[in-house]
Formats: sequence, C-alpha cells, structure tokens
Amino acid sequence: MKARVAVISGSSRGIGKAIAIELAREGYQVVVNYHKAKQGAEEVLNQIQAEGGTGIIVGADVSSSAGAQQLIDAATNSFGQIDVLVNNAGINKDQLMLKIGDKEWQQIIDSNLGSAFYCSRGALKNMVRKRYGRIISISSIVGLEGNAGQAHYAAAKSGLLGFTCSLAKEYGRRGITANLVAPGYIQTDMTAALNEVQRAHIAEGIALGRLGTPDDVAGVVAFLASPRADYINGAVIRVDGGLSSM
Ligand code: NAP
Repeated sequence: MKARVAVISGSSRGIGKAIAIELAREGYQVVVNYHKAKQGAEEVLNQIQAEGGTGIIVGADVSSSAGAQQLIDAATNSFGQIDVLVNNAGINKDQLMLKIGDKEWQQIIDSNLGSAFYCSRGALKNMVRKRYGRIISISSIVGLEGNAGQAHYAAAKSGLLGFTCSLAKEYGRRGITANLVAPGYIQTDMTAALNEVQRAHIAEGIALGRLGTPDDVAGVVAFLASPRADYINGAVIRVDGGLSSM
C-alpha cells in the first residue's frame, strides 16, 4: 500500500515542526509548509530524510485562499492524495480589545481561522473522492475559555471549534473525521517572550507543574491521525497539563 500523505500547515517551527517529524516517523509522506522560515522548513525536511522518511517543503501563505490552494495543489501534484490535514499555522499579537485595529483583527482571523477553512476546503475535495480523511486543527485553550489581551486570537481559535464540529457532521459519512486539539502553554517561539517570572507563575497554575513541549502536542495529533482514533469525530482534546481544569 502507498504510504499515506499528511499536510501540516505552518510546520517550519514549533508545534507544526514536531507534528511533521512525528507523522513522518509514523510512516506518512509529509508536506512541510512554511511562510517566512524557509530555512526552518529545510531543516525539518532534512531531519525527516535523515531518519528515513520522505516529504517535500512548500512555501505558501495559507492565510489567503490562493496560498492555501498552492499548498494543497503542491501536495496532490507530488503525491496524488491527501490523507491527513493538520491545520496548525497560526499567529498571535496580544493586544487589549480597545486597541485592536481592523487590520490586526483581520490578520489574526485570516491566519488562524481562514487558513483552516481554505486548506480544509482544498483537501476535502481529494478526501471525499477516496472516502477517507483526517482533519485535525490546532486551536487553543484560549479559544475555549478566552483570555485578556487576546480577543481576536480567542475568537479565531473558538471559531475553529464550530468549524470542526460542522465538518465532523457534514463529512463523517464519507469516512472523514474532524477533530480539534487545544494546547495550553507550549514552549515555542510563540511563548518565547514570556520571562522567567511569568513562566514560573504560569507553571504554578498548571497541575503538572510545567509548560508543555511541541512533542506533547504532536503525540496527540499522531494518535488522532491513527486507526486507533477511527471512531473519534468532532472531539476536542485539551493538551494543557491540567491548566484549564484547575
Ligand atoms: P510558532 O512557533 O510561532 O510557529 C508558527 C508556525 O506557523 C510557523 O511555522 C509559521 O511559519 C507558521 N505560519 C504562521 N502564519 C502562517 C501563514 N500565513 N502561512 C503559513 N504558515 C504560517 O507557533 P507555535 O507555538 O508552534 O503554534 C502552532 C499552532 O499552535 C498555532 O496555531 C498556535 O496558535 C497554536 N497554539 C500554540 C500555543 C503555544 O503555547 N505555543 C498554545 C495554543 C495553541 P513561518 O515561520 O515560516 O512564517
């Protein structure tokens, strides 16, 4: 059987990088996507190939319809199919509600929510034809609970919840599942601006006493992509070390 194909938006760094490497280890042919960090994407692919895996890198800005389609087209042109789509690309720009400009609002919505819509729409056409697909989107606990200074980011991440549940209902009968992963605080460039005092304070509020790693999230995504998760559809899995349940 031909190895399955996984497309991971925004996989040049952080959580997306860990997901791409993990899925390659599981035997997927992976499509590593970057927007600005081409060198990062090349390093991810080098690591995958050094471990015996296969993949390609695709530069595309998935916050636009055309960019996302470019990513999907590159995947199907290279491998003929898409089995797993991970909607991981995202950005945040913390700002108080009253200071969020129209441009910032749109940018955050397009990058975190629009990208998932554009990529999923493109990938679904291929998935529907072969009646198999796994769509896994990376939300955030902020999308489930809100956070001061992140109204735009929270709105986009919350939008992924309704989006995912709708896909789950619309495409379940065609063998396609859609699920959401909601990380808490994960150590990546996105949280790099936190100083030691802030980090210690956050860790105190997490039941497991530490921030998460990209691998903590990647393992859950690999599980959701695997046959062991075939009956999981429309679910939200929090990966936050017990932060939100405290
Ligand atoms: P990160 O280290 O800042 O990496 C973000 C990744 O997304 C990069 O590979 C970046 O690519 C890519 N990206 C951003 N905009 C893009 C676009 N328009 N088109 C294509 N790629 C784009 O962030 P991270 O922490 O790994 O976050 C990954 C996902 O997890 C995001 O959706 C984030 O909201 C979510 N999340 C993170 C945390 C956390 O604590 N870190 C918590 C909850 C949820 P380039 O570098 O090439 O531009």
